[in-house]
Amino acid sequence: MPKIQKKSVSNPYSITKDHRPDRITTMIRTAELWAKRSTCLKGQNAAIIARNGRIVSVGYNGSPQGHEHCTEAGCIIGPDTGCIRTIHAESNAIAWAARDGLHTEGASIFCTSFPCYTCSKLIIAAGIKEVYYLNNYRIMDGRELFAKSNIKSHRVEIKQDGTVNLHG
Ligand SMILES: [Zn+2]
Ligand SMILES: [Zn+2]
Repeated sequence: MPKIQKKSVSNPYSITKDHRPDRITTMIRTAELWAKRSTCLKGQNAAIIARNGRIVSVGYNGSPQGHEHCTEAGCIIGPDTGCIRTIHAESNAIAWAARDGLHTEGASIFCTSFPCYTCSKLIIAAGIKEVYYLNNYRIMDGRELFAKSNIKSHRVEIKQDGTVNLHG
């Protein structure tokens, strides 16, 4: 008789009757999936803007609409070693909201990576009040901007069982 191999139960993406993901997990997981659509070779990130627990806008790292993507034409490296061909996920999410006439005042943003300095300023200007992020960014200087503007930022840690810990 062949042995029946038990499937691993530690897959944090599995949703069972015993495990219903909370809103933060759902948003961060959704952002992770959107990040796969990024076209920059330097980094795949996405950001989701939500109001009252519902998604109002989404953005990922990519070139302006109709422009060549890094995947086709390569990245353009700027003075601080980041790619300047693309618009960052957070900026794209805010720009989409503006384009479609969607409110961002009092919203939360869920990012796969901590926002850069420029995106942090835009987040403040857009009236966003809360930032949830999965990974630290190489430069965390946006933190001081958020503190000054009373914006709470929380690092989301997804545990093996699929639940989350919030830091900060
Ligand atoms: Zn790029
Ligand atoms: Zn940015």
